[in-house]
Amino acid sequence: MKLNKETLCVQSGWTPKKGESRILPIYQSTTFKYDTSAQMADLFDLKADGYFYTRLQNPTNDAVAAKIAALEGGVAAMLTSSGQAANFYAIFNICEAGDHFVSSSAIYGGTYNLFSVTMKKLGIEVTFIDPDASEEEIDKAFRPNTKALFGETISNPTCHVTDIRKFADIAHKHGVPFIIDNTFATPVLCRPFEFGADIVTHSTTKYMDGHAMTVGGCIVDSGRFDWSAHADKFPGMTEPDPSYHGLAYSKAFGEKGYIVKATAQLMRDLGSIQAPMNSFLLNIGLETLALRMPKHCENAIKIAQFLSSHPKVAWVNYAGLEKDPYHALAKKQFDGDLPCGVMAFGIKGGREESIKFMDSLKLIAIVTHVADARSCVLHPASHTHRQLSDEQLLEAGIRPDLIRLSVGIENADDLIADLTQAFEKI
Ligand SMILES: *Cc1c(COP(=O)(O)O)cnc(C)c1O
Repeated sequence: MKLNKETLCVQSGWTPKKGESRILPIYQSTTFKYDTSAQMADLFDLKADGYFYTRLQNPTNDAVAAKIAALEGGVAAMLTSSGQAANFYAIFNICEAGDHFVSSSAIYGGTYNLFSVTMKKLGIEVTFIDPDASEEEIDKAFRPNTKALFGETISNPTCHVTDIRKFADIAHKHGVPFIIDNTFATPVLCRPFEFGADIVTHSTTKYMDGHAMTVGGCIVDSGRFDWSAHADKFPGMTEPDPSYHGLAYSKAFGEKGYIVKATAQLMRDLGSIQAPMNSFLLNIGLETLALRMPKHCENAIKIAQFLSSHPKVAWVNYAGLEKDPYHALAKKQFDGDLPCGVMAFGIKGGREESIKFMDSLKLIAIVTHVADARSCVLHPASHTHRQLSDEQLLEAGIRPDLIRLSVGIENADDLIADLTQAFEKI
């Protein structure tokens, strides 16, 4: 039976059998018992399916991963301890020293740093491209050793919207998968697989959790990228793995090969598993995701309209606004035509006025976090990106006056009243 997203949010992932817990239980256990040594050996050989050690897999985590996979329309998923771990694993699963990948420059600052600094130390090179560049220009970034293209559905913090179909087509032309971070849109508003993306990542810390309780991440595979058609590029997927008894992931596990490899190799060796307690809390957040996202959008469009007509506001980036350059793309890619509850805007007068404005807010809090039930703001130039000069900020696509506003699920009139009184202070 094909279920709709509201039903999947509540019912998918955990399907209790007779007499079992109605609610997803927390398997608060590092390990799992077997009757014979041979049973355990089969698990280690990946011949049998089952749990043996929570660093690799845990039933609570797997139920939550299955729910996210169902929401995205993927074939398999894996939870990670954070969104950073999800993006690292997603790339590292198919890239090694000497390899290269291409990424949109409109991405989360933490991901930018992971790609440009830390992965470089591992011998993996990245080329950043302007996501609005022409196909011909983006083509030029690809090399014979390029293994993936990466982007964000809605970029944090600039709120740029990626044309998923365009990116997927470019990636496929070069024989590599398109990996997309769908954190801000969530599968409730956008399912990148429907537009040709191959692998989706999430920081579940944001809307999926929705209550700012737990840091977590997830990787979902569409199962559609044909690794064996590009076997020369992806020997790790198609050739026998000596660290797993000569098993070839794409052959042995078919469309689930990518996630099995990420679990069997990367989780085994790097161990960034999500704690079952956290995935239990994440699951509670997911149950209301389909209710919350439309409310975030409904509030956000009201506030974006309020800001864009305010005399003290210099500019607003929110693709829900008709005049926004990404409005047509938002209508094409997002259910309900609106892109999440996050927007970016600038105040006339720049940096100083922005800080004064933020300090005057009463309901809307200054926090590093984004995308949860409570409205909040951040000024990247004086917070997350404070080590950068104004010039470097502009290079990263972040204007010094940019305020990231994450609109929660409160009453929009109360939020507008808070913004109004803060504008009166500047
Ligand atoms: C927050 C965020 C991340 C990093 O996630 P953590 O859970 O904080 O590690 C990655 N991508 C995007 C788009 C984010 O907003």
